[in-house]
Amino acid sequence: MGSIEQLPCWLLCVTDGAKPWKAAKKRQEIEMNKTTKIYIAGHNGMVGSSVWRALAAKGYTNLIGKSSKELDLKNQQAVQDFFASEKPEVVIDAAARVGGILANNDFPYQFLMENMQIQNNLIDAALKNNVDKFIFLGSSCIYPKLAPQPLKEEYLLTDSLEPTNEWYALAKITGVKACQAIRKQFNKDYVSLMPTNLYGIHDNFDLATSHVLPAMMRKFHQAKENNHAPVTLWGSGTPLREFLFVDDLAQAVVFALENKLPDYLYNVGTGEDLTIKQLAETIQRIVGHQGKIVWDASKPDGTPRKLMDISKMHALGWKHQVQLEQGIQLTYDWFLENRDGFKEVKM
Ligand code: NDP
Repeated sequence: MGSIEQLPCWLLCVTDGAKPWKAAKKRQEIEMNKTTKIYIAGHNGMVGSSVWRALAAKGYTNLIGKSSKELDLKNQQAVQDFFASEKPEVVIDAAARVGGILANNDFPYQFLMENMQIQNNLIDAALKNNVDKFIFLGSSCIYPKLAPQPLKEEYLLTDSLEPTNEWYALAKITGVKACQAIRKQFNKDYVSLMPTNLYGIHDNFDLATSHVLPAMMRKFHQAKENNHAPVTLWGSGTPLREFLFVDDLAQAVVFALENKLPDYLYNVGTGEDLTIKQLAETIQRIVGHQGKIVWDASKPDGTPRKLMDISKMHALGWKHQVQLEQGIQLTYDWFLENRDGFKEVKM
């Protein structure tokens, strides 16, 4: 064969998504310096605070974070100024406008626009300020509503999204694609992790904006305190869902930090699901509520099943550690300790 310039284009262009050459993909361990300056965007949130704790526990000493009051990530100039002055070497993007089915449905514009603004400003500032490693957090809702189960990364953009959260999903898809474009064009280690439904300490327990697991926990707890009053839950209880304890996601982020992952997109989950009814009964038992559960079938169920295919992460060596009952117990213990001061995200 001649010089590299004479190689066929498809051989030169073997990057993310390029199919012609299917070599076995391996991670490449990175010798991380514990003083590397790591900016965790959204470090007060459930995910960001868990990532902070995980990195601090591993001895990383140069972590930086700003609250939304100190730095509004929707403000492009402020974000560019922050990067120019702080010069982070690694960015973990755990900042987003996050919410459950109700909030997504009622505030489509905020879920689309704020998420695009936050991630665009972070990704672009990182690129312009020579950040070599960027970990973008998306969500399993990026996959089509009726995609085959379990959801593989390759199903992205193959069909229509779930209408109740398509705004949020579209924003996240553009974030994944921006990071993929940077890998392709600039050969930088910008990678996207798509967690399944998360729960854990520092979760949002506001009944109007929270996800299903913390919302149920709060409802069962309040009903227990109210003489075990009946608890009404949305939908039929039949949809299947997967849940990951947030500290397990934080370990996946550390894994993505300390290894160069060969692809642009990875699912992160447990690979196991259960019905919403089984989830409700598990939380009810752990909380100690002894009243009735009433299913309000007039309310939407959402996607019938959402289970991640996590074989790509497993093949590279990451696996979750915390089982669901253990994670719910840890979350409820934290809820009880913090019930006067837990987070309630308002729109
Ligand atoms: P939280 O709501 O707990 O935290 C979000 C964080 O984003 C907050 O700390 C908030 O900062 C910050 N933030 C929001 N808007 C701005 C802004 N304009 N400027 C600066 N900071 C801002 O969310 P999670 O921790 O649950 O989610 C983090 C990531 O994980 C998101 O990308 C989400 O898509 C993803 N994810 C979450 C799942 C879940 O079940 N929770 C499931 C799958 C993915 P402050 O507190 O200072 O206001």
